[in-house]
Amino acid sequence: MKKHNYSAGPCILPQEVFEKSAQAILNFNDSGLSLLEISHRSKDFVAVMDEARALALELLGLEGKGYSALFLAGGASLEFLMVPYNLMKEGGKAAYLDTGTWAAGAIKEAKLFGETVTVASSKEQNYNHIPKGYTVPADADYFHCTSNNTIFGTQMKEFPSVDIPVVCDMSSDIFSRELDFSKFDLIYAGAQKNMGPAGTTLIVVKDEILGKNGRIIPSMLDYAKHIKAESMYNTPPVFPVYASLLTLQWLKNLGGIAAIEKINNAKAALLYGEIDRNPLFKGAAAVEDRSNMNATFLLNDEAHAATFDAMWKAAGISGLPGHRSVGGYRASMYNALPLESVQVLVDVMQALEKAI
Ligand code: PMP
Repeated sequence: MKKHNYSAGPCILPQEVFEKSAQAILNFNDSGLSLLEISHRSKDFVAVMDEARALALELLGLEGKGYSALFLAGGASLEFLMVPYNLMKEGGKAAYLDTGTWAAGAIKEAKLFGETVTVASSKEQNYNHIPKGYTVPADADYFHCTSNNTIFGTQMKEFPSVDIPVVCDMSSDIFSRELDFSKFDLIYAGAQKNMGPAGTTLIVVKDEILGKNGRIIPSMLDYAKHIKAESMYNTPPVFPVYASLLTLQWLKNLGGIAAIEKINNAKAALLYGEIDRNPLFKGAAAVEDRSNMNATFLLNDEAHAATFDAMWKAAGISGLPGHRSVGGYRASMYNALPLESVQVLVDVMQALEKAI
C-alpha cells in the first residue's frame, strides 16, 4: 500500500514522475539506452535541460523578463556561499532576515565574505514567527530572506519593497503559491521538495545583477559562467534534472502554480482547522505566519503521544515526527501530497479525541 508521505524532504513526488523516471532509467525516449548511460551532451539530454530551464521560467511567469534558470549541484546550501560570492562587493555588505536554521546557515556563510547585517531575527522565540517592521539598509548589496522555514513551519506572506536586489531561498515552497516573482532578483531552491529528487538546485537569476561585484569568482561558483554554458559547464546531475522536468510538466498540465495553490490552500485549511478545533492539539507557529507547506503542531498532553503515534502509523501515514528543535509533529504538505492524505491525518486526530 502506498503510504501517506508527510516527509519534509526528500519527499513525495507525483506518482507519474516516479513511473516515468523509472522508465527513463530502463529505456530513455525509446532509444534502447538508459538515461543514465548517455552523454549529457547528447541531443536528447540537451533537450531535457533546455526544456527544464525554460519551463521553470514559464511557470514562474519570468519568461522573456531578463532571467536565466540554472540546474546546479551542491544543494541549496551551496547557494548560501554562491550568493555572496557573486553579489557582495569587496568591502561591501549584505542584509539578511533570520527566520530559521537555514536562514542562519546562509548568514554564517555570508559572514565569510563581508559585513553581514541581520535586519531582524526570531531566534529568541525559537523561530515561531516571521519578524516584521524591520528596516533594510539601503546601501546593502542585496537583501536575503527565506520564504518558507521548513523546520519551524512559518512562511513569509509579505516581502519588503526595497531598491536593492532581493534574494530568496524558496527551497521549501517554490512552485506552491502565486507570487510576483519578478520582485525577486535571485531565487534558489533545492529540488527535493516541490521539484524533484535531491541532487540539483534551481537557481533563477536576473542577468543584470551579475558581474558587478568586482570579485574573482572560481568558475564552478560563478553564475555567469554557468549561464554562458547553458547550465552545462560541467556534467550536470542528469537524473535529478530529468525527474524535475517531469514534475514541472506535471505541474503545467495541472494548470500551473495557480491551480496547485488552490489545492495547497485547501489542504492547509483542512489541517489547521483541525489543529485549532481539536482540544488535544496546538499549533507551534504564530497563526498569521503559518506555512501552507509544513504544518508544525504539538499535543497539549505528551501522555497521548504513544497512542497517537500508533494510530497514525496504523493509518499508513509516514514522516510525521517534528524536527528535534521543535518537537511534536510536522506535516509537510508539498505539491504532490493529495488532499485525501490530509483527510486521513485529520480523521486520525479526530479518532484520538474520541478514544481518550
Ligand atoms: N533552505 C531550506 C529552506 C531548506 O529547507 C533546506 C533543506 N531542507 C536547505 C536550505 C538546505 O538544502 P540542501 O540540503 O539542498 O543543501
